[in-house]
Amino acid sequence: MIKYHTENLFTVIDSRLHGNDKETSCHHIIRVAFESAADTEFDYLLPDRFWPIEAGQRVEVPFGKKNKLEVGFCVAVVEKAQRHKGTKCLAPGFIPGVQPKRKERKFKLKAVEKVIDKEPLINAELMELARWIRSYYVCPLGQVLAAMVPRAVKKGAGARTGKYIYLAIAAENIDETTKKLRGRRQKQIIEHLQQKDAFNSEAALELQSVLAEIGCGREPVKKLAQKQIIKIAEKTILKSLPAIPKGMTIKTEKVILNEDQQKALVHFKSEIESGKFGVTLLYGVTDSGKTELYIRAIEEILRKGKSAIVLLPEIALTTQTVQRFNARFQRIAVMHSGLTAAQRNVQWQKIKSGQADVVIGARSAVFAPLPRLGLIVVDEEHEPSYKQDTAPRYNGRDVAIKRAQLVNAHCILGSATPSLETLSNCRSKKYFSLVHLPKRVMNLPMPQMKLVDLQQAGFVKKGMNLISEPLAEGLRQTLAKKEQAILLLNRRGYSNFIFCPSCKHTLHCRNCDVTLTFHRSEAPGRERMRTVTGKHMASGYAVCHYCLAQTLVPEKCPLCGSGLAMIGLGSQRLKEELEKKFPQAHISRVDSDSMAKGDYYKVLKDFSEGRIDILAGTQMLAKGLHFPNVTLVGIISADTCLYLPDFRANERTFQLICHVAGRAGRSAKKGTVFVQTFLPNQPAIKFALAGDFNGFVTEELKHRKACNLPPFWRLAVVTLRDRTFDKLEIACNRMREKIDRIIQRKKLRAIVRGPMPAMISRIQRFHRMQIIIQAPQAEILQELFNSLRGEQPIRPAVKIAIDIDPVNLL
Ligand code: ADP
Ligand code: ZN
Ligand code: ZN
Repeated sequence: MIKYHTENLFTVIDSRLHGNDKETSCHHIIRVAFESAADTEFDYLLPDRFWPIEAGQRVEVPFGKKNKLEVGFCVAVVEKAQRHKGTKCLAPGFIPGVQPKRKERKFKLKAVEKVIDKEPLINAELMELARWIRSYYVCPLGQVLAAMVPRAVKKGAGARTGKYIYLAIAAENIDETTKKLRGRRQKQIIEHLQQKDAFNSEAALELQSVLAEIGCGREPVKKLAQKQIIKIAEKTILKSLPAIPKGMTIKTEKVILNEDQQKALVHFKSEIESGKFGVTLLYGVTDSGKTELYIRAIEEILRKGKSAIVLLPEIALTTQTVQRFNARFQRIAVMHSGLTAAQRNVQWQKIKSGQADVVIGARSAVFAPLPRLGLIVVDEEHEPSYKQDTAPRYNGRDVAIKRAQLVNAHCILGSATPSLETLSNCRSKKYFSLVHLPKRVMNLPMPQMKLVDLQQAGFVKKGMNLISEPLAEGLRQTLAKKEQAILLLNRRGYSNFIFCPSCKHTLHCRNCDVTLTFHRSEAPGRERMRTVTGKHMASGYAVCHYCLAQTLVPEKCPLCGSGLAMIGLGSQRLKEELEKKFPQAHISRVDSDSMAKGDYYKVLKDFSEGRIDILAGTQMLAKGLHFPNVTLVGIISADTCLYLPDFRANERTFQLICHVAGRAGRSAKKGTVFVQTFLPNQPAIKFALAGDFNGFVTEELKHRKACNLPPFWRLAVVTLRDRTFDKLEIACNRMREKIDRIIQRKKLRAIVRGPMPAMISRIQRFHRMQIIIQAPQAEILQELFNSLRGEQPIRPAVKIAIDIDPVNLL
């Protein structure tokens, strides 16, 4: 076995091992990528009995000093004779663009023990995509490949091997053959097989079901097989319940596209006709008819004999959207977390074998092994949930664009509140175009937006009431009319901020016009109570989302000298307060961590059937739901989003308010949206209440530009973690030195910050530190990390995670 790259960024691997090969019987060498094993690929001899093999098949090989059997993906194959004489390593250039980084060492290759898959799980197109992800997102190839194939597929979930029978004689000979037979049962079996057209192994019928149908034992079957009238075959069949429940189909009326939609469709048609790669941002408010357009574009691509993938945020997949697609397309497959393992496997096999031409799924459906891909739709492209938060840390939207590019497909990104990244791509990249749907299809009245200024509402003095008087009054009226309400309390991340209850002062950044966020620090031995500027809180720092500067937090308000308060909110408290204030109302709480899946559907059903009056919960309530009787929506604190320790906080706040407004407006009854805030003058909130997206974008871009943040510059976060703080600190400093050296040596244009404690500075006993790198182009980050990958690992060894284009900085 030979270690080919020495990309040791993640772990240290000892490859000085003894071979187990039987030289004589191996004419090929394969390269194997492991899910578990660092950023390295390894070469193995392939015994001839396993030939032929293709990249994308999994193999079992001995690994490590103890030759433990490990499963890995074959990622390349070469003839043994092609290797350089005298070396044990594959020829340079064996994989395009990958050169051996260090001197080739002479080790004896080990041999493959077993080939697991009969066919590749990853085809050539997806292998190329995997290599791009490996390089762009700085993660091991084996890890990428493992993420591309659902676990259910690798485990063969739902697969059952059973006996099947079919007729071995031609249809025209049946009568003659049957005449000669004595047994009634035998005749019945033949008749049954004939009726079902079971004339070949593909059409074979399951033995058990035939026996049950006829009502006989195996004897007649055996006799027929002996006479070679029928054949018995072993088949592995995948079984599962249908992934889309029957009876849930919705009625489809053919709609006539309005003028804006028609213009958009003309654009999609010409893009599809061109057969070239391109991306279209479909920007249109909720209910402007985007989904209808996705469907039309897919119909167009199917007419061309091609196929399409539709990506939706996970939570939207549980709603009517899937039904809508299902009602319009015959050969559809779905992939989302609500499926059983067996269902997932069946759906994947269906896609792979070409039995589906529309795939609809969550983030990872971007890897669906769909042949003849012509179109990828990414709905709600701004959604942070498209980013995977464990390695490989890819963004489903961006991978979709890359995949479309690799196969000359078109990519549609849809949103009511497009991300600033996508908007700026529309301006700067020639293969991006923008199509706008400015109006709602059905002319529903927009809900009334009501701002509740919590400072004026006496929020603080009365001891942290989550529900202000105006909102309470609104709720009372809603309940009196037997209508329903949804209350949103966004609990994502840390929602603390620093506030003076006495003079209403909030702490601001010295460099930027933004408020500071408090975050706890668990670093031991960091007593910094007193400095020249006075007493400070020892339990944490204040951080600026924009320039990332951190400062100590004074114990007393710098203006009036009263004690400062950290304000945090929780949805449990909200429910308590509701129960106290509205004792007769039926109230339920929904949030992603407290709800098992079954409960969630039950709650939604109860709510839609009127058994619940007030639904209180997190953002998952804001998406894809349609309840006509909901006339009040309350955002308990538009600020919790705003105080996320992240430069995208404004963007998220704006998006949240817009989406909630869109939700309430679905009802034909007049709806009201209450937006509670401590910061009524905050631009994101002001623009959102006015529904002024352009105004918001212009304002936000100013800040981003001034601070070299996306979409202007690119970002990468290196998070290092360890249980021992001192060890972590040493490793962090070494990492920083290493990064600095590469930047200097290669004269890269980049800003490096840190190491500094992560926003959440300790998780599961691991201390976390971050180094943040900003660069004007993605290529610079690529060059930096590619160099870093080739270097010796950091000592002392700590856990390292690299996040390219992070969607949050927690
Ligand atoms: P979006 O995806 O932008 O929220 P949809 O495509 O879901 O919008 O459209 C909202 C509703 O309007 C759906 O019920 C859809 O069937 C309907 N619809 C879409 N386009 C039209 C149209 N041109 N005429 C009538 N109804 C339409
Ligand atoms: Zn004060
Ligand atoms: Zn700042």
